[in-house]
Amino acid sequence: MNAERARTRRFAAQLRDLRTVACALPDALVLLDTEGRVCWCNPAAQRLLGIAWPRDRGLPVAEHFGEGEAGALLRMGEGDADDVPSPVDRAMRLQLSLIPYGDQRRLLIARDISRVTRLEQVRRDFVANVSHELRTPLTVIHGYLELLDPEDVPALAPVLGEMRAQSQRMRQIVEDLLELSRLEMQQHLAEERVEMAPMLETLRREAEALSQGRHGIEVEGEGDVDLLGSPKDLHSAFSNLVSNAVRYTPDGGAIRIHWRHTPTGAEYSVSDTGYGIPAEHLSRLTERFYRVSSSRSRATGGTGLGLSIVKHVLNLHGAQLRIESEPGKGSTFTCAFNQARLLGHET
Ligand code: ADP
Repeated sequence: MNAERARTRRFAAQLRDLRTVACALPDALVLLDTEGRVCWCNPAAQRLLGIAWPRDRGLPVAEHFGEGEAGALLRMGEGDADDVPSPVDRAMRLQLSLIPYGDQRRLLIARDISRVTRLEQVRRDFVANVSHELRTPLTVIHGYLELLDPEDVPALAPVLGEMRAQSQRMRQIVEDLLELSRLEMQQHLAEERVEMAPMLETLRREAEALSQGRHGIEVEGEGDVDLLGSPKDLHSAFSNLVSNAVRYTPDGGAIRIHWRHTPTGAEYSVSDTGYGIPAEHLSRLTERFYRVSSSRSRATGGTGLGLSIVKHVLNLHGAQLRIESEPGKGSTFTCAFNQARLLGHET
């Protein structure tokens, strides 16, 4: 009997310990019953979510969060939501995770990520401001360099040529950074019909102009399906992939631009028979300024920002970028759009 009492006391002490730990956590923990109502929460839940225990015992949390992304997550019953406003203070940004446990019960965890979000905003503003500040002086320098005639000072002709090329390169980097900043700050997407038949024609012309007859270029597309989104941004993403294929494929190679239906939506892809990319680089290619070979990128006028732009544009359209590549054989970059982004043609 005594042994049993001792065991019960030990369990009770362990339970108190666990609760003390949960109460000390800086993250909000809310235990929900099978109906999504509050069973228990720690003190951080009051600060982050405005849910207090025992006051809010039985509170349906989905209703507490209302219509936004957090409410949708709670109605869905499982998953994560990043960077959502706190119901206590909209300036506080939260990361939410809803985790199933036990018999259809759920644990809601909320973390205050306001500091990270603010730093991210500072970084974005800094890049946008620096790029903007550099744009005007660069345009002036570039303009004067264009006015200078190498024939007037033949001895300086090679220097002048190099200065022009470098100032053009800087201008292109600044333009790409500004484009990335614009895409990052864009909250709402233009919801326009993006006609794919003329788009593919434009891309073919661009590929031919860049290649100057050095590659075989093939374009194949099912023109009966269009996209819904921003024509300008999608063109920018698609043509970046074409430009890369031309730049990273030696003379005599082939480039194929393809637009087709798939069981889940539609795909735009660009394949080349170029240098290819070793597997260890694939996951990092869309990072800003990440290059497999800096010399090859620079020699062909690359800024190291093209694939970051592609990734941002695709994110805005809820699409995915897939990269398949074999060194020495070639690469295929595929943009996969889901059904919701497709528009058929009226018959
Ligand atoms: P860059 O301006 O350097 O081309 P990107 O962001 O467009 O920058 O591409 C990043 C890197 O990915 C490139 O520097 C190159 O090493 C590699 N890459 C991109 N496309 C291809 C391709 N089609 N074939 C081989 N390598 C590629």
